[in-house]
Amino acid sequence: MDFSPSPRAAELLELVTTFVREEIEPVAGEYHRQVSQTAADGVWADPPILGQLREKARAQGLWNLFLPVEHSEEYAKRYGTHGGAGLTNSDYAPLAEQMGRVTHLAPYVFNSAAPDTGNMEVLLRYGTDEQKAQWLEPLLDGQIRSAFTMTEPDVASSDATNMQATAVVDGDEVVINGRKWWSTGVGHPDCKVLVFMGLGDPEADRHHRHTMVLVPRDTPGVTVERLLSTMNEYDAPVGHGEVSFDDVRVPKENILLGEGRAFEIAQGRLGPGRVHHCMRLIGQAEVALELAIKRGLSRTAFGKPIINLGGNRERIADARMAIDQARLLVLNAAWKLDEGGPLNALSEVSQIKVVVPNMAQQVIDMAMQLHGGGGLSGDFPLAGMWTNARALRLADGPDEVHRGVVARLEIEKHR
Ligand SMILES: Cc1cc2nc3c(=O)[nH]c(=O)nc-3n(C[C@H](O)[C@H](O)[C@H](O)COP(=O)(O)OP(=O)(O)OC[C@H]3O[C@@H](n4cnc5c(N)ncnc54)[C@H](O)[C@@H]3O)c2cc1C
Repeated sequence: MDFSPSPRAAELLELVTTFVREEIEPVAGEYHRQVSQTAADGVWADPPILGQLREKARAQGLWNLFLPVEHSEEYAKRYGTHGGAGLTNSDYAPLAEQMGRVTHLAPYVFNSAAPDTGNMEVLLRYGTDEQKAQWLEPLLDGQIRSAFTMTEPDVASSDATNMQATAVVDGDEVVINGRKWWSTGVGHPDCKVLVFMGLGDPEADRHHRHTMVLVPRDTPGVTVERLLSTMNEYDAPVGHGEVSFDDVRVPKENILLGEGRAFEIAQGRLGPGRVHHCMRLIGQAEVALELAIKRGLSRTAFGKPIINLGGNRERIADARMAIDQARLLVLNAAWKLDEGGPLNALSEVSQIKVVVPNMAQQVIDMAMQLHGGGGLSGDFPLAGMWTNARALRLADGPDEVHRGVVARLEIEKHR
């Protein structure tokens, strides 16, 4: 196993790192302040600074870098810089770590933010030429955003076979009914398409009952009933929506891959996306550790710098060790994905999905404690980062489900 980046990835890592430190970090506070201000006035929108940053990043070729190697060449030929850089998961992972330093904002600057990245991968892998032309191209171009609508308020959605909202073929159309929630991204004014997962044939076997369909956001019958808060924050301007679908009709051609094939898509979609999430969280844990050290060195209590009080030095050491262990685990999962695809990395991807958010939550919590009351305030990014780590213990499947996968694969070895 060799984790050293390819020459192209090393060059991009330097560019992304510099861009994040010099262009994004200095304006992140102002960006969030402006978003909150307009949201308080009832308008969810990205402030102009975002567009300027995106143009600048794109001009440097720092655009769609998440695109998987097997597709980026084709897309580079067709769309120039839209095509990413032909990076493997292992090569992209350190870039995602740098983007993660500024939660939510930085990934979007590089057109590499969830849930668009996962949806773009679905379209790349499973979309027809028409679906790609209609939705993938504007997503790659950064003109629109998207949402993934699977989770439902009325059923335990950690078991995806429970989904009961329906997507039933009726002649040349698919008729969609039901209610989804936690649909991340539907609050954004540019969100134009939803990837919807619904029950198509209740008689089929558990893993062939569900179908994925592309639903334009403005289709009659699609209503965003409300936006949910996460630990009292609305994550404007992206948001997490509860969405009702009331006799929504879309052409049959909007089905992805085929009727009853939602699970096949879900399996192909999730490996790389989880590596991205985890590496971004490692970037956040690094920021938390830096902030903890700087705060601990700069304030004095009981005659000593706070960093030297009690067990604080040990806490710093523990955080460093936890972050480095987690990073190696993620790089291992990325390498296994590169070697043999999602089925080759089932256990490793579930392992990181448990280890990294828990690690990040603890490291960020330690940093909050070292900051005293300030750590819980909006004056530092720590509270937002903690919420993000906490949410990722549920989003993309709760810890327990991923532990279940690791345990099943481990036990199978000894049957
Ligand atoms: C910030 C955020 C963003 C999200 N974004 C999206 C999105 O964009 N699209 C989308 O479709 N969904 C999204 N989700 C939803 C998320 O994927 C679900 O919340 C998650 O899959 C769990 O489903 P549930 O909430 O129905 O919990 P339930 O299925 O009701 O589970 C509740 C709890 O039961 C326990 N449990 C469940 N299964 C097991 C098991 N096998 N073993 C032991 N205990 C178990 C766990 O403690 C679990 O947390 C998001 C969630 C959050 C918080």
